[in-house]
Amino acid sequence: MPKEQEPRPAHRIRLILGDQLNAAHSWYTERDTHTLYVLMEVRQETDYAWHHVQKVLGIFGAMRRFAEQLRANGHRVLYLTLDDKRNTQSIPDNLGWILEQTGATSWGYQLPDEYRLDHQLKDHAALYGAPVEVADTEHFLTTRDELGALFAGKKQYLMERFYRVMRERTGLLMNGDTPIGGQWNFDKENRGRPPKTHVAPPPLLFDHDLRDVQQMLEKHGVNTIGTVDAQHFPWPLDRAESLALVQYFYDALLPHFGTYQDALLPGQWALYHARISFALNVKLISPLEVCMAAEAAWRADPERITLPQVEGFIRQIIGWREYMRGVYWAHMPGYSTLNFFGHDRPLPAWYWTGRTKMACLREAIAGSLTNAYAHHIQRLMVTANFALLAGVHPDEVDRWYLGIYIDAIDWVEITNTRGMSQWADGGIVGTKPYVSSGAYLNKMGHHCGTCYYDVNDRTGPRACPFNALYWHFHARNRERLEAPDARPGTMMRVGMVYRTWEKMTPAARKALLDKGDELLEHIEEL
Ligand code: FAD
Ligand code: SF4
Repeated sequence: MPKEQEPRPAHRIRLILGDQLNAAHSWYTERDTHTLYVLMEVRQETDYAWHHVQKVLGIFGAMRRFAEQLRANGHRVLYLTLDDKRNTQSIPDNLGWILEQTGATSWGYQLPDEYRLDHQLKDHAALYGAPVEVADTEHFLTTRDELGALFAGKKQYLMERFYRVMRERTGLLMNGDTPIGGQWNFDKENRGRPPKTHVAPPPLLFDHDLRDVQQMLEKHGVNTIGTVDAQHFPWPLDRAESLALVQYFYDALLPHFGTYQDALLPGQWALYHARISFALNVKLISPLEVCMAAEAAWRADPERITLPQVEGFIRQIIGWREYMRGVYWAHMPGYSTLNFFGHDRPLPAWYWTGRTKMACLREAIAGSLTNAYAHHIQRLMVTANFALLAGVHPDEVDRWYLGIYIDAIDWVEITNTRGMSQWADGGIVGTKPYVSSGAYLNKMGHHCGTCYYDVNDRTGPRACPFNALYWHFHARNRERLEAPDARPGTMMRVGMVYRTWEKMTPAARKALLDKGDELLEHIEEL
C-alpha cells in the first residue's frame, strides 16, 4: 500500500484508535488534503495487558485494512507500524512529533471507550498547545453519561428498565408504545438443552495470511498468550467481512440462538452464538444496523426465526452491551478496584494452560486459548463461576479476561467480569451472584458424562468441585449477602439458598465445608 513516508505539511491531524474503525463516521464525508489521519501500532497498547495473540493480530490486521480503505477513498493517512523507526511506541509522544513535523495547527480524536486512554489523551491535549477537536465515535446508541443519569441515586442499575427505554427509543420490535408479542422479554424460553448428538452449523471462519504481522510481533518480543494459525487467521478484518459474518448468523444461527443461548455442548465452541463482538467492539459494524437487520430477518421469515430468538439477540446488544458501557462510565475509575467479598486467592495456574481434570473448565479454557473466544455461558457459568466460588481476587480474574478474548476491551470486559460475573461491585449490575453447583452445568450441557469428577457426588474423593464450593461460597459470605444494606432483591434471592442450607443436618453442612476447604487447599491439582 502507498505510504505517507515523511508526513508532509497538514493543517489538521486526526487520530484513529485501533477500536475506532467506523467507516461511516462523519469525519470521512469530506476528502480534505489538509487533514492527515493517523493510525499507530504501539507497545503502549500491546503491553498494558497480556493479550491473546489473535487479539493483537486482529486489531492490527483490521487497522491496516482500514487505513488502506481510507487511502483508497482519497484520504491522507499516516500509518505507523510497530517496527517503524519513527515510532516512539507511545500515542502522545507520536502525536507530539507528528504535530511538529507537519506543522498542523489543530488535532482531533474520537472519544476513547477506555477510561485509561480517555485520561491519557485529555492529559496530553493541553501540552501540545494546539486546539483539540473531540468527536463522538458515532457508534453507540447512548451517550457515556446517559445510564448514570437514568439511575441517579440508585444503588442498583436494573438492566431490564434500561432495556425497555432502549426498545422505546429505537422502535426495535415495537408496535407503537407496546412491545411486539405483548412482552418485553422472552428469557424464560431461552433455556433449552440440546440433545447430546445435536450439531450446530460450523462457525464461519475467514482465511487471512497475517504471518508478516506475527513475525513482526515475535521479532519485537511482544508477549502474548494463546495460539494462532497466522496463515489462516479466522476473524473478520473489514466491514464487508463483518457484514458477511452477521449475514451468516441470520441465515444459519439465529433460528436457534435464543433457545440454545445458555447451552454448553462439548466440541462446539461457538454453538449458535454470532461471534460478532470483535467486529462490533472495533466498530466495523454498528449495533443499530445489526439489530435492525435482525428484526428485518425475523419479519421476512417469522416461522424460521421466531420472536423469542430475535428478541433474545436484540436484548444482548441494545440491552446488555449498551448497559455495560453506561455502568462503566458511571462508575470508573473506582469500578476497577471493587472487591465486595474481599476475595484474595490467586487464579489457579491451569487457567493459563487448560490442564485440569474438570471437563467443563478444560474445554472452556483450552477453547479460549485456541480460539481467543468462548461463548457467554462458558465465560459466565464455567470459568467465572469457578473463580467466584473459589474466591479468586477480581484483579486476577480481570487480568485473565482482559487478555484472553479477542473482544476484550476494558469497558465491556471489566463490567462483565467484575460486575456481572464476580459480583465484586456488590450488586450494581446483578441482583445476586451468578454461581451454580454442578447440577446447573449438567442441566445445560453434556460435559459431566465424560468428566473425571462425579456431578452427583458432593463430598467424596471424586465429587464435582462445583458442588462443595457452591455451599462453601454461600456459607463464608452469608453475612455479606444477608447484610441489611445488601442491594434490593439480593436478600430475597439468596434467601432460598440459605433455607436449603438450614434444612441440612449439621453433619452434612460440616462435610460440605470440610470438602470445600480441601478443594481450595489443593486447587492447583483439580
Ligand atoms: P452473542 O452471544 O452472539 O451475542 C451477540 C452480541 O451481544 C455480542 O456480540 C455482544 O456484542 C452482545 N452481548 C451479549 N452479551 C453481552 C454482555 N453481557 N455484555 C455486553 N455485550 C453483550 N463481551 C465483550 O464484548 N468483551 C469482553 O471482554 C467480554 N468479557 C466478558 C467477560 C465475562 C466474565 C462475561 C460473563 C461476559 C463477557 N462479555 C464480553 C460478554 C459476552 O460474553 C460476549 O459479548 C459474547 O460472548 C461475545 O460473543 P458473540 O458475539 O458470539 O455473542
Ligand atoms: Fe464440570 Fe463438575 Fe460436570 Fe466435571 S462434573 S464437567 S467439573 S460440572
